[in-house]
Amino acid sequence: MSSTKTIGIIGGGQLGQMMAISAIYMGHKVITLDPASDCPSSRVSEVIAAPYDDVDALRQLADRCDVLTYEFENVDADGLDAVIKDGQLPQGTELLRISQNRIFEKDFLSNKAQVTVAPYKVVTSSLDLEDIDLSKNYVLKTATGGYDGHGQKVITSAEDLEEANALANSAECVLEEFVNFDLEISVIVSGNGKDVTVFPVQENIHRNNILSKTIVPARISDRLADRAKAIAVKIAEQLNLSGTLCVEMFATADDIVVNEIAPRPHNSGHYSIEACDFSQFDTHILGILGAPLPAINLHEPAVMLNVLGQHVEAAERYVTENPSAHLHMYGKLEAKHNRKMGHVTLFSNEPDNVVEFGKGIDF
Ligand code: AMP
Repeated sequence: MSSTKTIGIIGGGQLGQMMAISAIYMGHKVITLDPASDCPSSRVSEVIAAPYDDVDALRQLADRCDVLTYEFENVDADGLDAVIKDGQLPQGTELLRISQNRIFEKDFLSNKAQVTVAPYKVVTSSLDLEDIDLSKNYVLKTATGGYDGHGQKVITSAEDLEEANALANSAECVLEEFVNFDLEISVIVSGNGKDVTVFPVQENIHRNNILSKTIVPARISDRLADRAKAIAVKIAEQLNLSGTLCVEMFATADDIVVNEIAPRPHNSGHYSIEACDFSQFDTHILGILGAPLPAINLHEPAVMLNVLGQHVEAAERYVTENPSAHLHMYGKLEAKHNRKMGHVTLFSNEPDNVVEFGKGIDF
């Protein structure tokens, strides 16, 4: 039997593109489903250009591929269930359903995986906000559809309640206590349905709710780093994980609190392409194919900077002045403001001296 597979990827943005590049190195063929025929993956794979909820296109992809995966979690799980054959989506649709809805996600994290999350309650209307204790701060988040801080309202006083009530009456929400964290961190973990492998802890700096800089290893104690990795492994084991998952967490002075999970390679793991012996995309492909997974080693401390639409020229200048920095551009045709166009990875022991492209310019 040939070990060469045809892998179908739903979504042809940068994550799909980098998955496809890893798959191609391993000898596999990739077919991508994306609404745009000129999406980033079109540089490296055949594209079926159709909307994600086009069941005929999903069926065509399923019929032509041995294995399916996705680059983002808002895939129509019912549509997928209708077309996939047994075992064709090793990640399963259950994980999609968990990560599409914060209510299911919190329930899974706190009750099934039994990891620490911020104290929370489900809010179905503004009535559920009437008796909250305003001596504490909160974040109200819509259960579905939120991303990069959209669909969220921070509550620090009674003045915030008008907007919070409106949000609560517009959609089902989760009300979380505000976590006074020192750092935002994330851990990438990959599974092959049996075993898991875990990456170093990443420290993440956001600007305007968009990831701007990732520093690896995160500047937290070894004890907290071990704990963060153990939490990611526990979640992966509870899921019988196949492929790559990112666990986003808050590091407080003495604890780790899980914020959310993303069932796919993640922006904060891009440094692994150069800085680790296997990337998060390599282990994603190995994992969904059920292949043995390598232990991950970080060659040297690394920093990743995101290149948004308004940073493209600065990033191109930066690598002419710093030729040992790796510039990745995703091949997006239009450099819109805040659109993720590429990233830069470099090795550095002095992460504070690696200045984000937007700092002092746009923010
Ligand atoms: P999320 O969409 O859940 O990733 O939230 C976006 C950002 O809001 C996070 O990266 C944090 O900076 C912040 N945030 C979310 N939840 C909390 C919380 N419970 N406490 C403090 N900050 C939060």
